[in-house]
Amino acid sequence: MNKRLYDLVIVGGGPAGLAAAHSAKLNGAKNILVIERDRELGGILQQCIHNGFGLHRFHQELTGPGYAQRYIKLVQEHPEVEVLLDTMVLEVKQNKTVLAVNPELGVFEVQAKAVIFTMGCRERTRGAIRIPGKRPAGVFTAGAAQRMVNMEGYIPGKKIVILGSGDIGLIMARRLTLEGADVQAVLEIMPYSNGLTRNIVQCLDDYEIPLHLAHTIVAIHGQDRVTGVTCARVDANMKPIAGTEFDIECDCVLLSVGLIPENELSEEVGVSLDTKTNGPVVDQRRQTSLTGFFAAGNVVHVHDLVDFVSEEGEIAGKYAALYAQGKLPENYRTINILAENAIRTVVPQKIVLDHASIDPVRLFMRVGKPEEKLLVEVVGAQGKVLATKRLPIAKPGEMIVLEIPIDKFADAGEFVVVTTRQAVKA
Ligand SMILES: Cc1cc2nc3c(=O)[nH]c(=O)nc-3n(C[C@H](O)[C@H](O)[C@H](O)COP(=O)(O)OP(=O)(O)OC[C@H]3O[C@@H](n4cnc5c(N)ncnc54)[C@H](O)[C@@H]3O)c2cc1C
Repeated sequence: MNKRLYDLVIVGGGPAGLAAAHSAKLNGAKNILVIERDRELGGILQQCIHNGFGLHRFHQELTGPGYAQRYIKLVQEHPEVEVLLDTMVLEVKQNKTVLAVNPELGVFEVQAKAVIFTMGCRERTRGAIRIPGKRPAGVFTAGAAQRMVNMEGYIPGKKIVILGSGDIGLIMARRLTLEGADVQAVLEIMPYSNGLTRNIVQCLDDYEIPLHLAHTIVAIHGQDRVTGVTCARVDANMKPIAGTEFDIECDCVLLSVGLIPENELSEEVGVSLDTKTNGPVVDQRRQTSLTGFFAAGNVVHVHDLVDFVSEEGEIAGKYAALYAQGKLPENYRTINILAENAIRTVVPQKIVLDHASIDPVRLFMRVGKPEEKLLVEVVGAQGKVLATKRLPIAKPGEMIVLEIPIDKFADAGEFVVVTTRQAVKA
């Protein structure tokens, strides 16, 4: 039996996948299949019932489900976009055969002309950070607790300690306080928080929840259920300092200790991954190292704002649609983008030049640690500066975006370096 043939198969129906489907449709893709393993579209946004979404894109403060719904509606307006829910993609092959499973069809295959990976991220767990102690109930990732509280209607505990001050941990500190739990403290191993400044203020300061920087949990106590944790200050190498230990009584520990882009499918098919972002190496069209395979959203690099996720999904959708129609212009040159000094990651990692590109290139960057008065420079061949940006403050949690007209890359050489120096005036 012939497999069904689609112009485009999109793996993951979160904001990146939805934006990609909408944009692919607008750019001429005929039949598009979005495969989502969850029971509904919208991805992680469905459990983020706080506001703060869509400020850039819609100039409005939306909740996560509110933002998701706008894109779900856009996608539903196109009858050519088919959606399979409750369906897990198991494997994608280099010939673009997609193997999936669901309760109705069992295991099945479809054939795509182009594939977009938009599988998002998953959270690091207790096992990933190896906290000693027994294995009592009451240890959750912050995202799992968020789903439990906001979607299933359960509270994970009453006296809570949160490890990690990323945005999910901060938002859950507020959420659980509003649900009547007593959030004892947020502990952060780094000497600074990884969350957005607005979340530190609105989720901790406003509720007088203490944030202990340069601290970690050294033991979790309890036999059947968590009864408490031992915490300690850490040194410059993040090692606990003997003699600084103190105990906090609690019945629940939430871990907000980092996100890992979900790239098992991409890796297995042979897409090259960037060791710093843990996502695929992409060009400005979001094409990966494998022709006809594109990627967008948190699977490429962890985003702080969903507006950028949608932007990336739109780019991937547009160029995947062009590829599927045989209209993607051929590259005649590739320029690699290298990160230096304070810049830890840059996406895209390469720029391709062709005879038709006119869209400006937007570089998305993150610093490795908080910096003040930073001058970001994009430097081409013979030290020619292609673009600059002054930043009074740069934080690892907040994305730096720099737009460069494509023609600036014309005489850039084989690579371009994104570097930093201290700005005299920022
Ligand atoms: C707790 C939290 C708070 C946030 N707060 C804000 C905020 O206030 N403002 C803001 O702008 N942004 C916020 N963000 C960021 C933003 O929500 C995310 O960056 C965005 O949702 C990522 O979109 P995505 O489509 O890449 O991934 P996701 O939303 O994770 O979607 C990926 C989808 O792929 C599916 N999938 C994965 N693997 C498979 C497979 N093999 N087969 C089928 N389906 C698969 C998953 O089920 C999921 O639905 C927050 C994020 C989190 C986690």
